[in-house]
Amino acid sequence: MESINFLGTGGTRTPTQGTTCLHVSDHCVIDAGNLINTFGDDVFTIEHIFLTHSHLDHIIDIPFLADLFVTQKKVSLKIYGLKSTLDDLRQFIFNHRVWPNFEEITLIGHTEKTIELIELELETPYTIDDISLTPFKTDHTEGSCGYIIEKNGVGILFTADTYRCDRIWALLEERPNIHTLVTEVSFPSEFAKLAKDSKHLTPALLADELKKCKRDDFSLYVMHLKALFVKPIIEELHDLQLLRNGGKVLIDGDRVNYIQ
Ligand SMILES: [Zn+2]
Ligand SMILES: [Zn+2]
Repeated sequence: MESINFLGTGGTRTPTQGTTCLHVSDHCVIDAGNLINTFGDDVFTIEHIFLTHSHLDHIIDIPFLADLFVTQKKVSLKIYGLKSTLDDLRQFIFNHRVWPNFEEITLIGHTEKTIELIELELETPYTIDDISLTPFKTDHTEGSCGYIIEKNGVGILFTADTYRCDRIWALLEERPNIHTLVTEVSFPSEFAKLAKDSKHLTPALLADELKKCKRDDFSLYVMHLKALFVKPIIEELHDLQLLRNGGKVLIDGDRVNYIQ
């Protein structure tokens, strides 16, 4: 694949918009907020899901995909995340109460389990298909991370959900091969307290965070807008001139090229 396909970009699920889901290589997505509705019958091509955290808008299609895998696939659905994200899936989703424990249930006619939960090490690259994914710690939930997504030596930094986070800006300076930043803005700046309490960014917070970074040569894309506030957030992002170097507010179906 020559680009990342942003299948879900909303901070809210609506009839016309899904939540976070990035198709990054043939068999791999980051987060599962909008798999089933976008892939249809092709959803079986997805065998690897790298999670940023366990919030519902990022994991919502995993149980339904596991449900399809158990009778249709010969290989496990591999789900990657930091420890507390995987613990949440075990404790609150695949617990035989909310959903069957597909970590114990084998694929029909095969010996492999339906799902396999794989714990990630921070700042370690993982190669899937022809890309590499390197998780780094963000400030959102205990198990939250973003990813550096690299192909052919160039990179895109995807923060997923986060509040202020020094590591993002340090990584951009450490790695000049990163040409694009995709981050979140969930609320207008007037909701600064709500943003802090729920660990999200506003346009004003993002503008302040950008001051930590000496580089200004990367493209900046924004997603995860809460649906009620799309218009005022976009106005603020333009007023503050944050969508730099060709960046934009992403909508479902947008693509960002690996090579610029
Ligand atoms: Zn979240
Ligand atoms: Zn979210």
